Amino acid sequence: MNAAVPRQFDVAILGGGMSGLALACHLDERNAQGDKCVRKGVVLEPRTDYQRDKTWCYWQQQPGLFDQAITHSWSSWEVRSAGRRWVSTCAQIPYVRVDSGRYYELAAAKLAQSNTLALNLNVGAQTIARDGGSFKVETTQGELLAHRVVDTRPCAIPEGTLLQHFYGWEIETEKDVFDPSTVTLMDFGAGSADDIHFYYVLPFSPRSALVETTHFSKKTGSVDQYETELRRYLQHRYGLARWQVKHTEQGVLPMAKRGQKRAQRADCDALTLGLHGGTVKPSTGYCFPHAQDQAAELALWLTTAKGTTPPQLRGVAARWFDGVFVTFLENQAPAAPDAFLRLFQRVSPDALVRFLSDRSTPLDYLRIIAALPKLPMLKEALRYVFQR
Ligand SMILES: Cc1cc2nc3c(=O)[nH]c(=O)nc-3n(C[C@H](O)[C@H](O)[C@H](O)COP(=O)(O)OP(=O)(O)OC[C@H]3O[C@@H](n4cnc5c(N)ncnc54)[C@H](O)[C@@H]3O)c2cc1C
Repeated sequence: MNAAVPRQFDVAILGGGMSGLALACHLDERNAQGDKCVRKGVVLEPRTDYQRDKTWCYWQQQPGLFDQAITHSWSSWEVRSAGRRWVSTCAQIPYVRVDSGRYYELAAAKLAQSNTLALNLNVGAQTIARDGGSFKVETTQGELLAHRVVDTRPCAIPEGTLLQHFYGWEIETEKDVFDPSTVTLMDFGAGSADDIHFYYVLPFSPRSALVETTHFSKKTGSVDQYETELRRYLQHRYGLARWQVKHTEQGVLPMAKRGQKRAQRADCDALTLGLHGGTVKPSTGYCFPHAQDQAAELALWLTTAKGTTPPQLRGVAARWFDGVFVTFLENQAPAAPDAFLRLFQRVSPDALVRFLSDRSTPLDYLRIIAALPKLPMLKEALRYVFQR
């Protein structure tokens, strides 16, 4: 660790990935606005440098700190199932794609200019323990003390959790095959009783796209299986025999029924944020927009110290709907393609995007309930309530 950096901090952020960097940059913004409760903060990140490693997409409802990292934007998206297709269009709330390489660059440049927040690469956090009114963090480069700790490190997903697991190729083709105006959010494949399977296509131009095979199930697949699925899809949907793979990406996201209010590490009461800290929306796997919102809220709380309890990750209604929907996905996989198609067909795009982004109004919730199959959802709501 840089010897010039003091070893006592107001805030230590463990992990300088998407959510840790968002929090650090929001803290820096607040400090620049004059809220100086966080005089010294540090981000601990084991990587020695940043490379582009992911594609983050979300519906952009308001300007954000990292808008310069957005490379593509679409106002139409489609869902396909069993020969049926529904296209939604909403110019006011585009679906945007963030380049992770640019995101890391923007964040690192911002923190390099900061008087209060430091990004320390090549440092891994090991253990956290209470030490009087502070936390003692053991790192790969010695010990530090912090008044608050926000942990964004990855951790193991509990056995039995529904998973969103996916594998994708960013490809280039020799002929025009993709329609760059419309994202394919879900093109459902055969699936099975305990596996919801669909493809996701993010078209960058007529000859380049990110194509992913995605499953909601409790067991992940092998790379061989995912690649076979992708090959079949590219052949059947686009008639392709040849393509060039430019990048590969892969992920496993937890879809936990019992979303945490504000997750805290079991070994101490450090705050958590990010994919493994309860930020991901369990019913969709989207994490980026929620991490941005939660980072802003947490930065406000940390800098103004209003109230003793940190802000909730998501509201009661959003948690409840997520829990019921995940229960439905776990138990009624074969009915899922139809349920998704109905949601996109029957709920206006702006209301559905608000629902997917945890910004639903009470009326939006009623619209969602009206669109979904009543009896199966009621059965799963009861199962969710009574199966603790
Ligand atoms: C391939 C992929 C595509 C995705 N696409 C989308 C998308 O389109 N939209 C969306 O909303 N979400 C998406 N997600 C989900 C989610 O947004 C990302 O996983 C996101 O990176 C999660 O942010 P995070 O900060 O929780 O984790 P990360 O970005 O993974 O950051 C965690 C950090 O902790 C660091 N770390 C590890 N060990 C230690 C240690 N011991 N001490 C300190 N630091 C440590 C890691 O190096 C890493 O930098 C995607 C996920 C993946 C994997």
